[in-house]
Amino acid sequence: MAVKPDNAVGTAPTPLANPGAQNAGRRAALLEAAARVLDGNRYIQGPEVAAFETEFAAYVGVPHAVGVANGTEALALALRALGVEPGDEVLTIANAGAPIPAAIRMAGAVPRYVDTEPHHHTLDPGAIDAAIGPRTRAILVVHLYGHPAAVDAIVRIGAARGIPVVEDCAQAHGARWRGQRAGSFGAASCFSFYPTKNLGAVGDGGLVATPDAAVAAKLRLLREYGWDAERRSVAAGWNSRLDEMQAAMLRIKLRDLDADNARRRAIAARYRAALGSSVRVLDVHPEAEPVYHLFVVETDRREALLAHLKAQGVLGGIHYPFPVHQMEPWRPAAPVSLPCTERACQRVVSLPMYPELGNAEIDRVIAAVRSFHP
Ligand SMILES: *Cc1c(COP(=O)(O)O)cnc(C)c1O
Repeated sequence: MAVKPDNAVGTAPTPLANPGAQNAGRRAALLEAAARVLDGNRYIQGPEVAAFETEFAAYVGVPHAVGVANGTEALALALRALGVEPGDEVLTIANAGAPIPAAIRMAGAVPRYVDTEPHHHTLDPGAIDAAIGPRTRAILVVHLYGHPAAVDAIVRIGAARGIPVVEDCAQAHGARWRGQRAGSFGAASCFSFYPTKNLGAVGDGGLVATPDAAVAAKLRLLREYGWDAERRSVAAGWNSRLDEMQAAMLRIKLRDLDADNARRRAIAARYRAALGSSVRVLDVHPEAEPVYHLFVVETDRREALLAHLKAQGVLGGIHYPFPVHQMEPWRPAAPVSLPCTERACQRVVSLPMYPELGNAEIDRVIAAVRSFHP
C-alpha cells in the first residue's frame, strides 16, 4: 500500500473510502494479471477463478470456496444451498443495509428481525431463542463494520435447535474472533468484493466459503442454472458467476490483505487515542480482532457533525441511515420494535477509513471531530 507521507494533506476533501488509491499502488501487478487473462482467452470460470477459490479458502481456513457474482447473491445462494425454501424465515439484523433482506427474499424466504447488542451493533445472541419460530430455517449473522459478532455463541444456539448459521463477511475479510477467522464458524460464509470492501475487485464479485463438501457442490450447481456435467438442470439455479478478470485482480490484492487490515487497525488506534469525548467510539470486544471496514462513532447530533466535518474538508458517511424493518419492501408482516437497532441507525457516523489514508489526513479528521461541540 502507498501511505501518504506525514505532511501531505492536499486541498481535496478526505473521502470515506478510496479504491482508486488502492489500485494505483498495485497498478503494474494488476495490469500484468489483466494481460494474462486476455492472453489466456478464458473469461468465465477458468483457471483464475479456480486458483482464487483455492487461495481464498486457505486464507479463511475452510476447505471449500465457490466464487459468485456479488455479495448479495452469495447470501441468497448460501441460504438456498442450506435448504431454505419459499415460506421459510431467516433470523437477522435490520441495521446492515438492504442487501440482507434482498438476499433473503431472493432465496424465497422472509426476514425475521432481531435486535442488536449496544456495543458493536451486531446480532444479540440473547435475542435469538425468543425469535425462533416453526419456520425458522437459518440465522444470518453479519460481522458489521469488520467487527466479528459473537458467532461461536450464535452457532451453539442454532445447533441446539437444528438451525444453520450463515456468516455475512462482506465487511470482515480477515477479521478474527477468539483467534479464528470470521467465515470459518458457520455452515456457509459469504463475502463481497465490491470495490470499497477490505478485499475489493475492480467491479463486482462475491464468494461463499463452507466446511461442507455437499453444500459446496450445491453452490456450484446453483451458480450456473443448476447444471450437471451434461448441462441438464437438476436444481433451479441462476447465473451468478465470478469472472476471470475479477478473480485475477483479487488474487493480486489478496496477497496484501493482511497488511492492509493491519494498516486499518493502526489508523483506528490513532483515531481512538485522540478523538476525545465529543463522540462515542464503538467498543472492541477483547476476543475480537476487527478489520475496520468502517470506523464508526456515535453522536446525538449527527447532521451537525457531518456538516461540521464537511466544512473542514472531511467526508463522513452513515452506515446505515434507515433500518430495513422500517422500509416498505423489507417490512415484516407483523410490526417489530428493535430499540437498539433504531437508536444506532439515528446516531452512527462513519469516518474516513482506508489503508492508504496518511497520518496527516487522519490528524485532520481528528482535529475536525475534536472541534465539534455537540
Ligand atoms: C456490501 C455488502 C453486501 C452486499 O455485497 P454486494 O457485493 O454489494 O452485493 C452484503 N452484506 C454486507 C454487510 C455488505 O457490506
